[in-house]
Amino acid sequence: MSEGRILLKNGTVVTLDPELGDISGGDVLINDGRIEQVGQEINAPDAEVVPADGMVIMPGLIDTHLHMWQHPMRGLGQDVWGFDDYSSRVFPLRERFGPQEMYEATYTCALDALNNGTTTALDFCHNVLTEEHAEGSLRAHRETGQRVLFAYGMLGREDRLVEERQSRLAHVARLHNELGSDKTNLVRLGLALTTLTFAPIEDVRVEADFGRSLGLPLTIHQNIHAEVFRLHEAGLLGSDLLPVHSNNITDAELRLLASCGCAISFTTESEHSGGLQMSPVGRADRAGVLPTLGVDAPSFTDPDMFAQLRATYNIMRATEAQFERQEGRWPLRRYEGSPYVTSRRVLEYATVNGAKAIGLGDELGTLTPGKQADIVMLGTGLTGLIAGDPTNYIVHYATSRDVDSVLVAGRFRKRGGRLVDVDLDKLAATAAGLRSKIIGDA
Ligand SMILES: [Zn+2]
Repeated sequence: MSEGRILLKNGTVVTLDPELGDISGGDVLINDGRIEQVGQEINAPDAEVVPADGMVIMPGLIDTHLHMWQHPMRGLGQDVWGFDDYSSRVFPLRERFGPQEMYEATYTCALDALNNGTTTALDFCHNVLTEEHAEGSLRAHRETGQRVLFAYGMLGREDRLVEERQSRLAHVARLHNELGSDKTNLVRLGLALTTLTFAPIEDVRVEADFGRSLGLPLTIHQNIHAEVFRLHEAGLLGSDLLPVHSNNITDAELRLLASCGCAISFTTESEHSGGLQMSPVGRADRAGVLPTLGVDAPSFTDPDMFAQLRATYNIMRATEAQFERQEGRWPLRRYEGSPYVTSRRVLEYATVNGAKAIGLGDELGTLTPGKQADIVMLGTGLTGLIAGDPTNYIVHYATSRDVDSVLVAGRFRKRGGRLVDVDLDKLAATAAGLRSKIIGDA
């Protein structure tokens, strides 16, 4: 998979490794898919030199919650107002997907995200209506070169949950045998548990126990009150379980998650525009739970993690300022511990924390020698880098359109502004054809 030794030369390297820090005029040497060396003026005569003048070199972004199959429905959910609206107008279109549609949707979504600098995604696939649906998605994942945790959805059709459970779990076991458990495989298998909204805790326990017996990472939607507490009571919490959204979470529940080293996936644009509470992001971080970020459903959110970074920072700042106002500390004044949120902190949500949340903390998230070479090279536009901390540039000034190059496991997936080994005309035609098939010409 790798392309031998590559030397990214003379960029502003944001390693996010506390010991290495930021390096201006820095180089990154890649060998056999991994980062070999990071520093200034690295000498590697046999390496292919890739100039990074005027660019930021940063860890690839990690999306911990993405429903890739919904990519052909982009825009369809834009004016959705509440969960019932989503459940009646967007989700039922799942029936129009067969295995080929799952393949095409997943392929186009993964490339869209890769193009935007997302080197790793957790594909929460809650449209496994048949085994062939899952196989279709996995076929796409094997082709894109993106690193993925394919979270096999246990929620098929709601009225067949019980009768289908054992056969679904048997399919998961077969896929696990095929994909293996090597953490550095680009395509890994996980389990997306049935939401407690649709199933009793006993059924979720059967799924979780089965997934854990195979060592699969687990994830679960959290939409209603006290779900973390119910999972705790059932003895199901663990660092291998990634709750998603958790907008109603209490501080007591956050402490339970912190005690077992858990993360949460916050899908900021999706949740905020849906009127959900965003205070859990900052509260989770303060409580010692790892916040991570995701896009959620492409039917109403672009698979763009730069947009999530900026939205998250702004919402956390607004929430914190509102709290200060309520406490009578107005006008705002800086003091020890406030402001809490920084660009660097938010960037860590989408890199360091995301890696830990999917069990790859030792392999991804920072530009540390020995780790996988999952890297984004970010241009700095017409006028170059801003003053001060380069993470401010990444979070506030850059957009996904500045993504110049993307490497996954040391292999260029995008280079010089263009996806590698992808027929772009064919991709556009596939996306248009699929969209027309799923939602008509709307
Ligand atoms: Zn979701």
